[in-house]
Amino acid sequence: MIYLDHNATTFTHPQVLEKIQPLFAKQLGNASSVHQLGREAKGIIESARFQVAQTLTVSPRNLVFCSSATEAIHLGICGFLAPGDRVLVTQAEHPAIWGALAQAQAKIDILPLDQYGRISIDQLKASIQPDTKLVIMMAVQNEIGNIYPIEQISKAIHPIPLFCDGVQALGKIPFAPEKLGCAMSVFSGHKIGGLIGCGVLWTKPGLILKSYISGGAQERGRRAGTENTIAITAFAQACSLIPQRLIQMQDVAFKRDYLQKTLLDRFPDLCIHGDVENRVPNTLALRLDGLDGELVLQALDLKGICISSGSACSSGALEPSKILLALGLSAKQAKCGLRISLGVQTTQEEIDIFIETLIQIAQKLRLN
Ligand code: PLP
Repeated sequence: MIYLDHNATTFTHPQVLEKIQPLFAKQLGNASSVHQLGREAKGIIESARFQVAQTLTVSPRNLVFCSSATEAIHLGICGFLAPGDRVLVTQAEHPAIWGALAQAQAKIDILPLDQYGRISIDQLKASIQPDTKLVIMMAVQNEIGNIYPIEQISKAIHPIPLFCDGVQALGKIPFAPEKLGCAMSVFSGHKIGGLIGCGVLWTKPGLILKSYISGGAQERGRRAGTENTIAITAFAQACSLIPQRLIQMQDVAFKRDYLQKTLLDRFPDLCIHGDVENRVPNTLALRLDGLDGELVLQALDLKGICISSGSACSSGALEPSKILLALGLSAKQAKCGLRISLGVQTTQEEIDIFIETLIQIAQKLRLN
C-alpha cells in the first residue's frame, strides 16, 4: 500500500502509540468523577492541555477539547454568532465552516479567490461592512495547499475578530494563532500524527461563547460530554513532536518538488493547481485534462495507491471540487483534479512507483 493522502488523515506517530498504549491497558475513570480514578483521568487531560498550549503558545485555559475539528468549528462559530449576524468568509473554506454558518443562520458575504486560490487584502478590506461581526479565513487550504497571510489579514480587519481554521497548518508550517492576531482557531489530532477523535478550539482570552453543546460542566462549561482521555493524550503527544515534524517537512518539500518536476517532464499538458510559490511542503494538486480524476483514483486504488480527487459525493453523484471551481475551472476541468499529499513517512521509492503507475494508467485511459 502506498498512501499519498496525508491531508485526509495521517498515520499515528509511533511515539504517540507508545504513549497511549499503557492507557488502554489500565482502567481509566471519567474525568468528571471525584474519586481517585476520575482525578487521575483529569490529571492526564490537564497535562495534555498544558502540552497543547505550549505548542500553540497560548494559555491552557483558552483551549476546549472536543471530538473533531468539525465540532470545534461549530462550537466557535455557533457559540459566537447570533442568527442574522453578518460574516465575511473566503471561498477557500472547508465544508465544516459552511455547515456551521448554516447552523448559526449567519448572513454570509463571500470573498472570492483568484485563479491561483489567493485572496486580495484590498478586496478583503473593501468587503467589510459596518455590521460585519466575524471574518473567516483558513491558514492552509486542504486541497491546493495554499498558505494564507493570517497576520496581515488580522491586522487588515482589526478590530473585527478573525476565525482561522488551523487544521492543515499545524505540523506543516509554524503556526501560533494568538501571535498572528486570531480570535479563534481550530486543530485536529488525526492530521498531525495523533488519533481520530480529538479536535481543539482555541479562543482568545476574554472571548465569550454561548454554549453549543450543553448538559455537562466539562471543559469549564464550554463543551459538555465526557472527554476522550486517550485521543486527547495522543493529540498532546503529537503536539510535542511538532518541532521534529517541522524539520522533517524540509525533506517532504524536496520529495514533493521532485514529484512535481518529474510529472511536468513526463506530462507536458499537466496543470498545477494553487499558488506554487506559497504552498505547504507536502501538497501537490494537479490535473491532466481529459483524464477523469475519479477514474484515475480508482485505477490507482486497484494498484494499492491512495490519493484524493477533490470531488465530493453529494446526493449519490460526484460533484466537482468547489475549490477548483472557485479558481475558475470549468466543471469538466475540475473533475480531472487530483490531490497528492505526502507524509513524513513517504519514501522516494513510493514516489517513483506512484509516478510510473500514473504514467501507465494515463496511457491506458487516454487510449480508451
Ligand atoms: N478544516 C480543514 C481545513 C480540514 O482539512 C479538515 C479535515 O479534512 C477539517 C477542518 C475537519 O477536521 P476533522 O476531520 O477533525 O473534523
